[in-house]
Amino acid sequence: FSRLKEGLQKSSHKLTEGISSIFTKKKLDNETLLELEDLLISADLGVETAQKLTENLRKSRFNEDITQEEIHSFLAQEITKILEPVAKPLLIGNTHKPYVILVVGVNGSGKTTTIGKLGRIFQNQGLKVRLAAGDTFRAAAVEQLAEWGKRSQIPVEVASQGSDPASLAYEAYAKAQKAQDDVLLIDTAGRLHNKEGLMAELAKILRVLQKIDPTAPHECLLVLDATIGQNAHIQVEVFQKIARITGLIITKLDGTAKGGVLIALVEKFHLPVYAIGVGEGADDLKDFDAKNFAENLVG
Ligand code: GDP
Repeated sequence: FSRLKEGLQKSSHKLTEGISSIFTKKKLDNETLLELEDLLISADLGVETAQKLTENLRKSRFNEDITQEEIHSFLAQEITKILEPVAKPLLIGNTHKPYVILVVGVNGSGKTTTIGKLGRIFQNQGLKVRLAAGDTFRAAAVEQLAEWGKRSQIPVEVASQGSDPASLAYEAYAKAQKAQDDVLLIDTAGRLHNKEGLMAELAKILRVLQKIDPTAPHECLLVLDATIGQNAHIQVEVFQKIARITGLIITKLDGTAKGGVLIALVEKFHLPVYAIGVGEGADDLKDFDAKNFAENLVG
């Protein structure tokens, strides 16, 4: 977990500095509470969460003497409470074989890298894994996934650049069924600037997967880049219109001061957070642990 601690340093630094400049007097008064609310908003926790946290603090400690340490532990506890219900590991049920996981998100958010890392995690759990390089728009994405596959000795289905990602997805699914794979992870393109095209493409992928099994995909993961802060909300809304998103993976939590956005997203969408990305390396995808995240964020 030290990677997370290191990664969230910018976010926690912002909060720690803020708290020490706000809590110069001992007593918890209105002005201090308002300043704390502003600080939480500026740390990307979202207006509603910021209000809720300060309101809870007001209720329990208004007009009382309070130390900075108490503020830190209050915030860590409250944030843990918010995050605990959504901190769920991604479990591959044996209800479907293969368990089909479609991975969506805007280009650059970290989809391909995340699929590479997830593939390794599942393989290390003893599962039989297959990857499908469905971002056929971007040649580099196909190469990148093929490279991940090679390194981990996981089969990767590829098609030539510009070919139809839906037929690739269909063929990969059929192949995975035949090979009795446990998990099939499918990459997709994320050209948000061409929303119509993106919607049509993902809709087609969903249609062909459902030809094989009407309940597929069994998970649809949305990968979000934490460094974009509040813009992540719009991305969730856009992708929820296209597919039934079953969980989030938040990447690039290393080195951003916007780590608080994860809390705002959880409060708004109540989607499980299956994992977090804290670096580019193979081992930098971590299970999301509510308490650990909260404590490292608050500093
Ligand atoms: P895609 O377009 O959504 O498939 O995104 P990629 O997987 O190609 O990732 C885009 C860039 O972000 C690459 O340079 C990745 O190495 C990098 N990246 C992905 N996840 C993380 C992460 O958790 N932390 C950091 N620092 N970089 C990441």
